[in-house]
Amino acid sequence: MLSGIDAHICNNCIEQGHQVVLEEFGSKEEKKGRKKLPKLNLIPPVEIKRFLDQYVIGQDEAKRSLSVAVYNHYKRLTQPADADDVMIEKSNIIMAGETGTGKTYLAKTLARILEVPFCVADATTVTEAGYVGEDVETILTRLLQAADFDVEKAERGIVYIDEIDKIARKSDNPSITRDVSGEGVQQALLKLLEGSIVNVPPQGGRKHPDQKMIALNTENILFICGGAFVGIDRHIAKRINTRPIGFSNDSRIIEIFDKENLMRYISAQDLKSFGLIPELIGRLPVLTYLNPLDAQALRQILTEPKNALIKQYKKLFALEGIDIAFEDSVLDYIVEQAVAYKLGARGLRSICESIMTDAMFELPSQSDVKTFTVTLDYAQEKFEKSSLALLKSVA
Ligand code: ADP
Repeated sequence: MLSGIDAHICNNCIEQGHQVVLEEFGSKEEKKGRKKLPKLNLIPPVEIKRFLDQYVIGQDEAKRSLSVAVYNHYKRLTQPADADDVMIEKSNIIMAGETGTGKTYLAKTLARILEVPFCVADATTVTEAGYVGEDVETILTRLLQAADFDVEKAERGIVYIDEIDKIARKSDNPSITRDVSGEGVQQALLKLLEGSIVNVPPQGGRKHPDQKMIALNTENILFICGGAFVGIDRHIAKRINTRPIGFSNDSRIIEIFDKENLMRYISAQDLKSFGLIPELIGRLPVLTYLNPLDAQALRQILTEPKNALIKQYKKLFALEGIDIAFEDSVLDYIVEQAVAYKLGARGLRSICESIMTDAMFELPSQSDVKTFTVTLDYAQEKFEKSSLALLKSVA
């Protein structure tokens, strides 16, 4: 018997009471947990891809890899913790493709269908801890912000890290100076990618030294990295050329490969030759590539996606009550210029702007104009006058 102020309790009752409290408390915790983390609705990869197709032209390979990885990420999150010994590991992704082929755009479009927090970070702003620049932890600050500082939600989010190629090791020879924005950052990223508890500054940066850190477990965060990897085709070509295939080591073997787009054959080995450390490559097991955009793809990008540029201009003018039309030859002209300037899809926008600025400036104050057709002559005249065209003549 244990005595209190004016009563006694026996050991049996204490045990029973303890049990009741445990059960009550446990179920409350569970309820709280369930309320905090809404159930994820699994979208099958085919549907994820179908959604991406509405916005992004081509890039089938990359879309498929992304859809599968994201689907598996969802599945992992819904997997009961103690079902059996098989734990599904997350499959972080790395995408390689020329600039302007849609890497960031794919990631952003993906974010729209996801009900998990999502953020885009830039690897070039990060440096090794202790040096001028941001620490890798600030990448997660953005994720926390996207999750409204709900740690549990952030812990199952997706992070897109752009320009991963810019943190490649500067040279194979270890030099006297430290490579603080290259290999140093890769080392620091390892910690995030592999899954560990990271202390994240909620307000980012080092401007608020007194801020309280938030501990975030990165085990269930999916990382997607993207980079242009300019010059990696040399490494790919070298590998293909030197590695004997089958029984033949005939150097003409390369003839059977698509020489125009060697990126298709990219492998982890090439990433290593490019300057990514093997540990980092190991933590990005899914490797995919994006094709360069040819004239036909650019033409489709102008008109087909749900928020295609031409549709956007039409809407802008419709809001003014003006019905605008583009001659087919104008669209071909825009594509021609984008190809000539080697600007990829990113260039389409600036070319369209240089053609349309005058009309967007003048038409809103001309209340009698209700329709407007952009003809080839008009487009050519406006474009030749623009600073973009001047650039070409200087070159
Ligand atoms: P990067 O590969 O350098 O990250 P972005 O994703 O930033 O290129 O692409 C720049 C812009 O070009 C995007 O905002 C998008 O409007 C357009 N774009 C690029 N590729 C495609 C594509 N395959 N389909 C539709 N639009 C595209």
